Amino acid sequence: MSAAKEDDVCSHVKVVVRVRPETQKEKDGNFAKVVHVVDQHILVFDPKEEEFSFFHGKKLTHRDINKRTKKDLKFVFDAVFAENSTQLEVFEHTTKGVLDGFLNGYNCTVLAYGATGAGKTHTMLGSPEDPGVMYLTMMALYNCMDQIKEEKICNVAVSYLEVYNEQIRDLLVNSGPLAVREDAQKGVVVQGLTLHQPKSAEEILQMLDYGNKNRTQHPTDVNASSSRSHAVFQIYLRQQDKIASISQNVCIAKMSLIDLAGSERASATNAKGARFREGANINRSLLALGNIFNALADPKFVVKLIDII
Ligand code: ADP
Ligand code: MG
Repeated sequence: MSAAKEDDVCSHVKVVVRVRPETQKEKDGNFAKVVHVVDQHILVFDPKEEEFSFFHGKKLTHRDINKRTKKDLKFVFDAVFAENSTQLEVFEHTTKGVLDGFLNGYNCTVLAYGATGAGKTHTMLGSPEDPGVMYLTMMALYNCMDQIKEEKICNVAVSYLEVYNEQIRDLLVNSGPLAVREDAQKGVVVQGLTLHQPKSAEEILQMLDYGNKNRTQHPTDVNASSSRSHAVFQIYLRQQDKIASISQNVCIAKMSLIDLAGSERASATNAKGARFREGANINRSLLALGNIFNALADPKFVVKLIDII
């Protein structure tokens, strides 16, 4: 495979970072900053804070030898969003581009990954006053559907589920654990998962809020309303050409927006007993996810996937 082709394939996975503002607790504690956003693509983890003074016009750097040396690690990402970034900015530079692929019939996924309290739920779900990626995606999708309504008949439906302690539950209705089945035609299906067709922006907000309230949450030391489950919001889109032709042109795609459970260390959350076991299950599933990413990042594997689709 040529280098150009490889680059092309690798771009199927994009990684962006959002740095959240300090919480009140962090401000009160006067903690040192652990990340420094350099620009739209670079951030430094555990930055070196240089303390300068001048002696006879020369700049001197003081180094406290009792202090731990800072790691000062520089990382490059597809995009980096600083503390003051808005929900709309994050959406426009991440998921909005993915939406184009979705409308062209590709199955797409956007995941929020990070430690408990990092801002995953804020970014993906947000609040009714400041809604996040899930809501903004639906709004943009409706907008796109409106623009193509002369040429295509579009049907959209959504589902919202959680994976908690290795079990799946529907967040939009009261359900017991649901089974996963592999269907020859439809791929992986969650049996009994309900599909919904929200008609207005308000209905979407209500649905997301309702679903989030149904999520398994338990307070941990780092987040008072820590989500202990993976929440998966899925949008199914069926497009059909309006102009009659011999071959019925139908395009079906699925988009998954996922708010993962916190990737914390048990020591940070002070987890014991049931919370500790929960954490172990979360970490196990995140490790499995890590394996999927490693496979996806392998250009050969992505090519195989595309061939199959
Ligand atoms: P997580 O889901 O990763 O555990 P949350 O999304 O619940 O974390 O965020 C933890 C806290 O920080 C919440 O009170 C949330 O409102 C706040 N927060 C997170 N990100 C931001 C942000 N970008 N701007 C303002 N507040 C934020
Ligand atoms: Mg959360």
